[in-house]
Amino acid sequence: MADVACVTCGQTGTAITAPLFLGKLEAEIKAKVCADCWKKWEGMRVMVINEYQVNLGDESGRDLVRKQMKAFLKLGEQADSSKVAENFRPPAS
Ligand SMILES: [Zn+2]
Repeated sequence: MADVACVTCGQTGTAITAPLFLGKLEAEIKAKVCADCWKKWEGMRVMVINEYQVNLGDESGRDLVRKQMKAFLKLGEQADSSKVAENFRPPAS
């Protein structure tokens, strides 16, 4: 079983094996995010879609979900810098 140094939780975790159907983002996510954190995002994604009433048939809707996903998984352009972690705020529940 492959392990991944997860940028989301900062731990070494189990790599994601299931297909994510995310195009070019898929390789990045599988290289940087553990399966546990991905599972958390899958739960969060449902809330994001409901809260923003996202229409996934819409390019802007898909874009919004992608941005939320990157923020949640800490996959910003500066994912390696501590700045991203400092600026990260979990959505209010
Ligand atoms: Zn993780």
